[in-house]
Amino acid sequence: MVLAQLGGSISRALQQMSNATIIDEKALNDCLNEITRALLQADVQFKLVRDMQNNIKKIVNLDDLAAGHNKRRIIQQAIFNELCKMLDPGKPSFTPKKGKTSVVMFVGLQGSGKTTTCTKYAYYHQKKGWKPALVCADTFRAGAFDQLKQNATKAKIPFYGSYMESDPVKIAVEGVERFKQENCDLIIVDTSGRHKQEVALFEEMRQVSEATKPDLVLFVMDSSIGQAAFDQAQAFKQSVAVGAVIVTKMDGHAKGGGALSAVAATKSPVIFIGTGEHMDEFEVFDVKPFVSRLLGMGDWSGFMDKIHEVVPMDQQPELLQKLSEGNFTLRIMYEQFQNILKMGPIGQVFSMLPGFSQELMPKGREKESQAKIKRYMTMMDSMTNEGKRSELDSTNPKLMNDSRIMRIARGSGRQVRDVMEMLEEYKRLAKIWSKMKGLKIPKKGEMSALSRNMNA
Ligand code: GDP
Repeated sequence: MVLAQLGGSISRALQQMSNATIIDEKALNDCLNEITRALLQADVQFKLVRDMQNNIKKIVNLDDLAAGHNKRRIIQQAIFNELCKMLDPGKPSFTPKKGKTSVVMFVGLQGSGKTTTCTKYAYYHQKKGWKPALVCADTFRAGAFDQLKQNATKAKIPFYGSYMESDPVKIAVEGVERFKQENCDLIIVDTSGRHKQEVALFEEMRQVSEATKPDLVLFVMDSSIGQAAFDQAQAFKQSVAVGAVIVTKMDGHAKGGGALSAVAATKSPVIFIGTGEHMDEFEVFDVKPFVSRLLGMGDWSGFMDKIHEVVPMDQQPELLQKLSEGNFTLRIMYEQFQNILKMGPIGQVFSMLPGFSQELMPKGREKESQAKIKRYMTMMDSMTNEGKRSELDSTNPKLMNDSRIMRIARGSGRQVRDVMEMLEEYKRLAKIWSKMKGLKIPKKGEMSALSRNMNA
């Protein structure tokens, strides 16, 4: 996962707050201070971090909030919203339409990953049924055309360029014209990058832009510059009409959070991120799912790897089958509780599922949690069979009527509210479980490819 370090620190801070017996001002401040430290380490601008902290404090008025779970949820939601706000430029990007010719011009400094990203962008769209083409208008860097040609050939994408012609404007115009005639719907123009923001580079960019009239100018930027991305993005925006940004090398740099928030501050939408050197290490960037992952609210990739790692081969298909069906019954909950209590391999897996056991069994409160799980299981033990069907196999136990609930309470020597609490827990876990619905069951050896897809 990108930004694993930042994500880890933030979810740890939230977890610690959740583990606190009472959530008072001190617990909230400790949590916010941890998050602040993590964001500053990721090179997020100090002002943005301070504003976020103040906003959360304004939203979360501890005195007004009811005790218990609610408070944690409200704080988590406020943190989620503020992080989203920090990364949201408040402006959507122009999106090319399949089947209608669009010209997309790539700009950026040399070494930012521009040429690599042009091919990734073309390849991404080609897989989705588009007809992309690549034009190399970089006549400045020796070997630029060869690099583009090599990448394009590998991905079977048509390309245009010249070893002889030194005028980038001429090449760009010829390439765009040719691919328009060939009915390509996504014509990508790679322009030359220089070592730094220099006048000649901007002038050349303006000329290519004027001559090819791109529908979208994409600015490619290396994430390792962190918050300095703000000045770089501004400088490019002042010279050409940058419509959106792609931030590269998110796999290798701790400063990625800083770069993303800095770009958002220039009101330019980030639409993709580069996460490696390979053609398919390229992800759509969407603020909300990105922040969910950052907060550990859905690291499916870790979950699938864990299944592969710890569940015996012969038990994997059955478990994955149940997950893929998405129907969470009380019986499955019962079995998972057994596994969690035994901490058998499947118990280990479920303790990794975001939300599955963190709240059910927070660290440091294991004894208490075990007692709770056992209590739930005793109540489930007193559910009855009707004909062949057991109440445990119902996928909709929330429809259970009052008399059934009272009977279960009586049968297990518990209160009605305990049964209601158990059914609430069921509903919460069923929601998490249902996210796995439609899971493609992998064949042997396919597990890591699958987890990459689920994380995308
Ligand atoms: P350009 O000068 O801007 O056209 O940059 P290149 O496309 O030649 O890329 C410069 C270097 O960065 C190459 O070694 C690429 O393989 C590498 N690169 C590009 N994107 C990524 C990325 O998302 N992650 C990593 N790790 N490397 C990347």
